[in-house]
Amino acid sequence: MTDYSAFTPYLEWLDSQQDAMVEDLIRVANINSGSYHTEGVNRVAEAFAELAAGLGGEVSWHEMPAQEVISNQGQKEHKPLGRALQISKRPEAPVRVLLCGHLDTVFPKDSGFQQVRWLDDKTLNGPGVADLKGGLILMLRALQAFENSPFADQIGWDILFNPDEEIGSPGSSTLFPALAAQNHVGLLYEPAYADGNLAGERKGSGNFSVVVRGRAAHAGREHHLGRNAIRALADFTSALDDLNGQRQGVTINPGFVQGGGPVNIVPELAIMKFNIRLERPEDEAWCLEHIQHLQNDINSRDGLSLEVHGGFGRKPKVLSPANQRLASLIRECGENLGLALEFKPTGGCCDGNNFAACGLPNIDTLGIVGGKIHSHEEYCLVDSLSERAKLTALILFRLATDTDRDWLKRS
Ligand SMILES: [Zn+2]
Repeated sequence: MTDYSAFTPYLEWLDSQQDAMVEDLIRVANINSGSYHTEGVNRVAEAFAELAAGLGGEVSWHEMPAQEVISNQGQKEHKPLGRALQISKRPEAPVRVLLCGHLDTVFPKDSGFQQVRWLDDKTLNGPGVADLKGGLILMLRALQAFENSPFADQIGWDILFNPDEEIGSPGSSTLFPALAAQNHVGLLYEPAYADGNLAGERKGSGNFSVVVRGRAAHAGREHHLGRNAIRALADFTSALDDLNGQRQGVTINPGFVQGGGPVNIVPELAIMKFNIRLERPEDEAWCLEHIQHLQNDINSRDGLSLEVHGGFGRKPKVLSPANQRLASLIRECGENLGLALEFKPTGGCCDGNNFAACGLPNIDTLGIVGGKIHSHEEYCLVDSLSERAKLTALILFRLATDTDRDWLKRS
């Protein structure tokens, strides 16, 4: 049995930090950091670099490659991304922990949702207060409490603040394999559920764009010479949607369509975007095979071509034995704080998927308690700042003092 009394002074210090955490959260949430607002993302990164200065880690900045996207005109475009910030300490420590959270939000520079306000004296409404700036604030305080303790020499850590999670981490995921390899466990700061519980298994996800090109012709004079891109795309989309229900846990959602122009012209261009969610890694091959088959069908038609771009950016998160061990350690830490934490499966994805796929056991909802994320009603229950900071601090204390470390060995 762990004697938690040695940790008490550091947990009490976190209680004393509650008001300061709220103040810091309001400041960073009032800076817009929509994923493509790179200047705002970089400003938020700099604010966090300042907040982390007392930790004494080594700071490195990573430039991200631009994201390749398919425009609504069917062209490849490159969108610049903000910088990732990494802070690292004690690379040689016996236990190494990755702490990770994203700087970006889903609210663009010109969003109508820009400022934080109080809904009542316990509830803050604002862009990113839950997803995920509140989590970053409490993570840094928890780490400070740990660094103030005599147990600190047992754990080395990397913090990754990444700029592009809300668009699938196209740039920052290139950093993940090395970070996964040099750490034993990952703690990620997506918000907990509104009832305080945490996420366990997660579905995998892929985003795809389809560009169909046909041939334009006058709809009255030479209709027979045209090749209708909209018709071909409609056939493809119907057949794709018919795959729903054919394989356990796989869902396909055509979610965007655009094409054509004046109705007296046979349309030569049509574009569709779709998302796939799946439960098992082997489902990916099943999906890709079917997509290929549907694509071949269109490409075999005279005068028509169909390109598919994109892929599976998030692997399904399956809880490995080491990941289950980490979850039970976290459940025990919760019990010590009077929290009955449950781990619930979800169809949503985050960087926890990618880190699990890189072999890093991780729990990814250690941020604040809140809800209605990705909407203008996003909120954070502010008391959870100190509550969840204490949870993270306890996790670190346990990882530093538990004598059984066999489960931390990489398979
Ligand atoms: Zn998030």
